[in-house]
Amino acid sequence: MSKYETKQRKRLTDLFASHADEMLSAEQLYALLDDKSVSMSAIYRNLAELESEGKLTRLSRPGSRSILYRYTENENCREKIHLSCKLCGKTFHLRPSETEKLVSEVEKNDGFLIDRANTVLFGVCGYCMENERRTGVAK
Ligand SMILES: [Zn+2]
Ligand SMILES: [Zn+2]
Repeated sequence: MSKYETKQRKRLTDLFASHADEMLSAEQLYALLDDKSVSMSAIYRNLAELESEGKLTRLSRPGSRSILYRYTENENCREKIHLSCKLCGKTFHLRPSETEKLVSEVEKNDGFLIDRANTVLFGVCGYCMENERRTGVAK
């Protein structure tokens, strides 16, 4: 990898680190680069590399075709199961006690070991639920 490429990659991982717990598309990442020092194609190349190294999780929101990436190398995010709100897009951590319960129950009852770092549960967050209740559009 050239010095220039290493720098581009650093830019991108720094960006991810400062947006921990956000799921970002390649386009959003590009928009966040204030100096546009990394081209769109370099972003795609780096995303593919980071993904193959297991540092990124690629996912798409239900009902949407755009591909989002979440950086899984953040210290805070290791071993956490993430909860993603379908309405506002915010991400939360499942409480450690809940995570342990879920992982051990599923492992015990189904013989299935959940990969925490790559697990995202989609739903509606408390704030959005409250908001919907107030505006009366909740079903
Ligand atoms: Zn996290
Ligand atoms: Zn929400």
